[in-house]
Amino acid sequence: MNLTRIKGFADVLPGDVEAWQRIERAAERVFASYNFKEIRIPVLEKSELFSRSLGESTDVIEKEMYTFADRDSKATLLSLRPEGTAGVVRAYGEGKLHQVEPVRKLYYLGPMFRRERPQKGRLRQFHQIGAEVFGRTDPYVDAELLLLLRDLWEDLEVTDTVLEVNSIGCAECRPGYRAALVAFLEERRAELCADCDRRLENNPLRVLDCKRPSCGGIVSAAPSILSHLCDDCRSHFDTVLELLRDLRPEPVVNPRLVRGLDYYCRTTFEWKAGAGLGSQNTVAAGGRYDGLVQSLGGPPVAGVGFALGVERLALLLSEGDTNESGAPLLYLAWMGEAAQRWTFALAHRLRRRGRRVDLEGEARSLKSQMRRADKQGASVVLIVGPDEMERGRALVRHMATKEQTEVDFADVEESLG
Ligand SMILES: [Zn+2]
Ligand SMILES: [Zn+2]
Repeated sequence: MNLTRIKGFADVLPGDVEAWQRIERAAERVFASYNFKEIRIPVLEKSELFSRSLGESTDVIEKEMYTFADRDSKATLLSLRPEGTAGVVRAYGEGKLHQVEPVRKLYYLGPMFRRERPQKGRLRQFHQIGAEVFGRTDPYVDAELLLLLRDLWEDLEVTDTVLEVNSIGCAECRPGYRAALVAFLEERRAELCADCDRRLENNPLRVLDCKRPSCGGIVSAAPSILSHLCDDCRSHFDTVLELLRDLRPEPVVNPRLVRGLDYYCRTTFEWKAGAGLGSQNTVAAGGRYDGLVQSLGGPPVAGVGFALGVERLALLLSEGDTNESGAPLLYLAWMGEAAQRWTFALAHRLRRRGRRVDLEGEARSLKSQMRRADKQGASVVLIVGPDEMERGRALVRHMATKEQTEVDFADVEESLG
């Protein structure tokens, strides 16, 4: 093919897609048991939604969004969504969901788009499963989201997970921390990387999660946000930790786990899993964003949520056993037109009973049909040729044991269905 896919965009082919299906089914099961409802939102939104929710000066807005002018209205810039929260918040407000019932537990799944440098586990079209809870400020719901994720890992048999949690305070206590952090960093400004030098001006908390070793060294001695929390934030965080007390392995409190945007507050967390993913091993991340809904013009309701990366999770599964092939395949081998007609009709009846059935559309030798059946992993092959048509009896071959029996046409459906 001289037409190829775009760099950073991937096909998910049969053989890989089974892991995705397993993740999606497990997520649906777990969300249902926590009484979450699904929400489906567009992949294309007005760019302003993202610049207002993510902040003009973030990397995502500055260089990673797919943005273009709409043909009909050149003044309106549109963007492919780089994440799911902004759209869900918009839909919550626009759909006036809060007027019926402000407390909503919503989840979504689908593609997101960011023009990043493609690498293992990171694509330009990537997929997320996310949850957003609106209208609850209590620490129980923060803990509930983390337990939900824990249940999902267990359902998917993903082991080796580490949960890092932190509290980043609130509008009351964060300014004090920010000032202390800036004072500390100002003294070491010459040693910071160029990015952090810039962050110190407009987003000093982001210096804490700089990946450069030189900055990491400086930051490890920086004042901790946890010693600046106000009483309400302190007790909120203590309760979250208390509710996660029985989680194994125990959550790790990481005071450097921050979010750069003002509407984030209190709980932040990251689940890491799988050494196989290298440095890209965060499979889910989230936290509380009590100010976001209102800042996008919605009602003053709190929010807390997370997003998990389906590609990364799928990589973890494909390292293990992802074989969830569903019902065993029944293959109908036929010889001659009469047998073709008869097996074609039988296939339809068996499929309606929920059996997974397949057969050829054109005449082939029995040998070649048996080979095809074997290749597709058929557990049973029903063989019908002119002789069988005449006698009204079909051959049933069990592929594993190679054992062969005969069945009356009248009993075929019962014995195979
Ligand atoms: Zn506070
Ligand atoms: Zn840095």
